[in-house]
Amino acid sequence: MESVTVLGSTGSIGVNTLDVIRLHSDRFQVFALTAFSQVDLLLQQCLEFKPVLAVIDGSRNAIDLQKKLHNRGLKTQVLEGSEGYRAAASEASVSTVVAAIVGAAGLEPTMAAVRSGKKILLANKESLVMAGKLFLKEVLRYNAKLLPVDSEHNAIFQCLPSSDSFKSLSQAGVRRILLTGSGGPFRQLPASEFDKVTPQQACQHPNWSMGAKISVDSATMMNKGLEYIEACWLFNAAPSQIQIVLHPQSIVHSMVEYVDGSVLAQMGVPDMRTPIANCLGWPERIAAPVQALDFTQLMQMEFSAPDEEKFRCLALAKSAMEVGRDAPAALNAANEEAVAAFLNSQLSFAGIAEVVDAVMQSWHAGEPSDIDAVKHADKRARSQAINVISAKVQQAG
Ligand code: NAD
Ligand code: MG
Repeated sequence: MESVTVLGSTGSIGVNTLDVIRLHSDRFQVFALTAFSQVDLLLQQCLEFKPVLAVIDGSRNAIDLQKKLHNRGLKTQVLEGSEGYRAAASEASVSTVVAAIVGAAGLEPTMAAVRSGKKILLANKESLVMAGKLFLKEVLRYNAKLLPVDSEHNAIFQCLPSSDSFKSLSQAGVRRILLTGSGGPFRQLPASEFDKVTPQQACQHPNWSMGAKISVDSATMMNKGLEYIEACWLFNAAPSQIQIVLHPQSIVHSMVEYVDGSVLAQMGVPDMRTPIANCLGWPERIAAPVQALDFTQLMQMEFSAPDEEKFRCLALAKSAMEVGRDAPAALNAANEEAVAAFLNSQLSFAGIAEVVDAVMQSWHAGEPSDIDAVKHADKRARSQAINVISAKVQQAG
């Protein structure tokens, strides 16, 4: 039995992960489930999967959850907050950690899993964006195994030679990575309409059902920017080796082009349970509860180049990667603050790119020596973003 911790089990990726685990109860045993504040959903998950540990933020939530578990005769121990997330990620008996907390909050728990040499199923792209170089150094140092859950990166991973023999793109005969993206819900909306977009509209992705933050990132195309940075780190790719291609149907999940002209693509219905199952079973293939792709029903597959002038967040992310050092951490932090302000109706949709742009314009990038330095940069960029947002709110009022 493989013992698994799911960090962020109540989120979109977490729930999809448990769907796959449910199919393979002979193979996986859940050690810990964690959430931020959803006591009742976490309780339900505990009743079904009977983990040793459940972690939630805040002492009131923790007491509430412990009481409810006890009343139902469950022995699951409840821990609270960052200590708890760390314990869930690093417990010696755990072999696999699914890193599915959203945003910078995922960095510490994911690093704890890295430093405990776990097999890490990485959904939390923000941690790699923030700390890429340091993150990968620790993966090597602690002999952790990193498997990409993000559908595009999982597709690329599947189209590359086996990761044990993979050293570099050029040695593997790879000319380019073609990172695909749907273009989000506003691919065809004129930029002049961006001011009127509501949080509800931005969260309605045409092909994928996801958490609020990544849905907004998909709508601004910051998600594709973060994924571009994520791909640079995961596959040791130079920015020039990655081309972003829009593909609104989300059937091809990304491609790898080889020097002989061959292009390998991974395809499937847009359902995160496929890449999750691919990582959970790796190097074997295990079943996932997903629909088969029916080529007789596929109307068409389109491909085009993204419009970086309209989707400025994509251009900002690429340039942050170009600058390097702690610039991607600053970009990520500014974006998180701007997205939160947009979801709270404090900032317009168009304002997200403006806030990130303003923070990046005045950012003096420095090389972070350790994870604490990354967190410091994150904090600094957040406070700058908050200032920009406040100024905008005042201007509008
Ligand atoms: P979500 O908002 O649905 O879920 C987030 C999870 O993290 C929840 O369990 C929540 O309780 C927990 N959480 C939130 N804030 C926390 C905090 N401060 N401390 C501890 N736990 C916290 O998000 P999601 O859509 O499942 O995305 C999770 C991650 O996976 C993100 O990094 C996202 O970019 C990545 N990802 C998601 C998808 C998708 O289809 N949803 C696809 C690719 C990558
Ligand atoms: Mg993705």
